[in-house]
Amino acid sequence: MESVKLDTRKDLAVHLNEDQLSAAKAESRKMVNHLLGLPADTKPDIGLSPFVEELLVSLTPPDAPRCKHLWQRPMQPWMLMLPFRKWHCKACFVEFGRRHSEELKQGYSLGPIEEFTCDRCRTYVGKMLNPLVIRQDLWTIVGSVCDPCMALGIKQGGRMK
Ligand SMILES: [Zn+2]
Ligand SMILES: [Zn+2]
Repeated sequence: MESVKLDTRKDLAVHLNEDQLSAAKAESRKMVNHLLGLPADTKPDIGLSPFVEELLVSLTPPDAPRCKHLWQRPMQPWMLMLPFRKWHCKACFVEFGRRHSEELKQGYSLGPIEEFTCDRCRTYVGKMLNPLVIRQDLWTIVGSVCDPCMALGIKQGGRMK
């Protein structure tokens, strides 16, 4: 397998050809829809909104924590669950989700403060947050945001559920 050292998402975008990108995007969509119990979605991604751009920039520094598979083979879906800031490949994300799903069902796995703190603006709101799913190219981010952040994301054209 070709081994190329790729550090940032810009490097990655340069090295991807259209077929690889389309295949990886389709895989990301399928994966997320499956996780969420939604039907398969074949709509193409829209352009990058400022809301998504800001999140991606903050989460993709050159040394962004990631599983070893993403270091070995970066041309595959990258998945991250906020407030954790580590990227996972598909297999590792499933394992990560399994480990946390029982706790997440309880609704308090992150502790009483983090559980009710917005993943984007870090405001403690003291009530249930809105579930957020962002899919952009290879990147999928799952998290929870406050009402103002959700409204901003929707206004700026983010595709979120
Ligand atoms: Zn992995
Ligand atoms: Zn917020």
